[in-house]
Amino acid sequence: MKVGLRCKVLQCCKIHTRKLLNHCTKDMAGNNREQQFKYLLILDFEATCDKKNPPLPQEIIEFPVIKLNTRTLESEAVFHTYVEPDVHPKLTPFCTELTGIRQSQVDGQPHLTDILNKLFPTWMKEQGLLDPDNTSIFVTCGDWDLKKMLPSQCSHLKLQRNDHFRKWINIKQAFSDVTSQYPRGMMDMLRKLDIPHTGRHHSGIDDCTNIAAIAKELIKRGHVFKQTSYP
Ligand code: AMP
Ligand code: MG
Repeated sequence: MKVGLRCKVLQCCKIHTRKLLNHCTKDMAGNNREQQFKYLLILDFEATCDKKNPPLPQEIIEFPVIKLNTRTLESEAVFHTYVEPDVHPKLTPFCTELTGIRQSQVDGQPHLTDILNKLFPTWMKEQGLLDPDNTSIFVTCGDWDLKKMLPSQCSHLKLQRNDHFRKWINIKQAFSDVTSQYPRGMMDMLRKLDIPHTGRHHSGIDDCTNIAAIAKELIKRGHVFKQTSYP
């Protein structure tokens, strides 16, 4: 074989091997489609509540976010804090019963103002999520967290919401795109996807873990996540 030809064959093999490796990596994650976002930021607030109506203003008491890599399908980092309410710092027995969050877990914890102004932006920066190459978007179960809860508390506290809280993906919509069935809620999606529920329902961090499992399964089934909120 002429030297030039051998070089070409070797080069071709290298390219093929690289392609094969890329292919294998994608296959291992079960994720063959190019995603628009490098990271999904799974978010699920818990808030003050009572049997009939929530205390007004309703206030966030748990603020968890899981950073999910859409290529490797790994949960790379977690932001998690309980939150001390400003207006009604005493949780109702109903709220503790529903969420599992005890009074001692919110007493002395950061207030929402500190989280939005300092703690969460610091985490976003540390995680490289402010880098324009590391595209990310919040994912919630329904629209309540970012359409209602956060805006209403921010307006009560006269706080500016960062722009990244203004767009999100409602995973129920993504689920419906894949299965052609609009789900009732998180438990319904888990059941229909045959994913075991882990932890306690209505614990924010456990809900995030379960929503992340749903997101992974939808990616494995070929879903490309797209923003569902409209500014
Ligand atoms: P979830 O993300 O479904 O755990 O719910 C978020 C928040 O909605 C809870 O922390 C409560 O403030 C409120 N919530 C959810 N389910 C109920 C319920 N059955 N009764 C009253 N409030 C609820
Ligand atoms: Mg929840």
